[in-house]
Amino acid sequence: MDLHIFFLPFLAPGHMIPMIDLAKIFADRGVKVSIVTTTGNIPRIQPTIDLANNSCHSSRHHIQLIPLHFPYSESGVPKGHENLINFSDPGISPEFITAINLLEAPFMQLAKDHRPDCIISDIFYPWTSSIAHELRIPRLVFHGSGMFTYAVMCVIKDLKPYEGVNSDRQPFVVQGLPHRIEMTRSQLPEFVTEARTGFFKETDDAHDMTYGMVMNSFNELESDYANLLKKMLSMKVWHVGPVSLFNQDVNDEMARGDKASIDCNHCLSWLDTKKPRSVLYICFGSLGRFTHAQLQEIALGLEASEHPFIWVVRYNDELSAWLPEGFENRVISEGRGVIISGWAPQLLILNHPAVGGFMTHCGWNSCLEGTVAGLPMITWPLFAEQFFSERLIVDVLRIGIAIGVKVCSGNEEEREMVMGEGIKKVVDELMGNGEEADGRRERAKELGVMARRAVEVGGSSYNDMSHLIEDLLSLRSA
Ligand code: UDP
Repeated sequence: MDLHIFFLPFLAPGHMIPMIDLAKIFADRGVKVSIVTTTGNIPRIQPTIDLANNSCHSSRHHIQLIPLHFPYSESGVPKGHENLINFSDPGISPEFITAINLLEAPFMQLAKDHRPDCIISDIFYPWTSSIAHELRIPRLVFHGSGMFTYAVMCVIKDLKPYEGVNSDRQPFVVQGLPHRIEMTRSQLPEFVTEARTGFFKETDDAHDMTYGMVMNSFNELESDYANLLKKMLSMKVWHVGPVSLFNQDVNDEMARGDKASIDCNHCLSWLDTKKPRSVLYICFGSLGRFTHAQLQEIALGLEASEHPFIWVVRYNDELSAWLPEGFENRVISEGRGVIISGWAPQLLILNHPAVGGFMTHCGWNSCLEGTVAGLPMITWPLFAEQFFSERLIVDVLRIGIAIGVKVCSGNEEEREMVMGEGIKKVVDELMGNGEEADGRRERAKELGVMARRAVEVGGSSYNDMSHLIEDLLSLRSA
């Protein structure tokens, strides 16, 4: 009988999207896959699952979606808010944590009814470790970030180098790493500095009963940190990414994550009119928001830089509420730029030959997707672990330029402003010519080639996936 795995993705696009990709990879390897999620989240993933099921060869299992009721009345989460994308603040509220914890009992019942051989759970469901323990099956944890980020975060939690500085903005060096990595306390998220309390403590403690960690990364990208992580953790680690590469078909790319807020064909034909590698793509993930004043400065910077762009903004307001006067006529109508208000078909855009640079908030998926596309990046981290990924892109891989922000906060009012002039300067530097820009571009291109090789038959991630499946099969027969 084939291996059967339960997947439990966290209810936010940056966690759910890669986990659905991961589930598709397992299904393609002949594993029986069941994805468990709440009813309100099913419409987001159903199109992707339908495409995967329709294209699968007859011998393969169909991916199954199993719904869970979202506990609105018991948790106090407002109706229609089953995913972090529905909230204006990207932080996880206490009510949302309550709802997540209330899923434990129904999930346990499902696991008892279906008897999977393994649970692959997002890190934010710490209780899946005791369920797996009770059912005597392995729990694998999906962290969602990369190996550099996870390793550096563990070192900082352990050594607390931020305690030895005089101010939040004074840089400290993280000791014991293969590269010189400097950060400031103001760049650290709460779950690093307050790791020993509440929900974050529970997620860390769950590791004691966790069999292994599945990373969306590939060895060639961050091998030093993969080795470091394997030494630091008391569990097995597999790197099986970049999982986004499992969406090579245009239809897959268009359906991924959510319904695009732009006509994809219009977007592609606009890109077709641009010179190769001339367009800057700007997106701050699924949750990144800015004040009107900051959006205005970004618009001014883009206009002044004179490079074509596609800019994704996550705002319900009319563009006229914050766009500089005349911007639409001067820039948009003239065909120099496209603004997407809402959900962008990110993979489709990044992989178009006209795109030559990516301004990103350094969410891990975006970092990897930019890497796969072989693009140099402008790093503008906002919150969570994004300041760590910035260091990997800028200091270790040397394929990015930092915009230079220092404040990690989910609240756009608390972050420092970056002025249009500074934005123009960095955009010109990234998209322009010269030794440094060309070197950055060349390194990014090489990494893109390595990323593709990693997931091909015989590549490092392909092989690690084989090892993982063999490991799970051997546990079952033990
Ligand atoms: N994404 C997308 N369109 C958007 C915004 C995001 O397709 O308009 C996808 C992006 O390709 C990535 C994920 O959503 O796969 C965002 O994850 P990431 O880790 O980059 O950032 P987060 O949203 O978690 O901050």
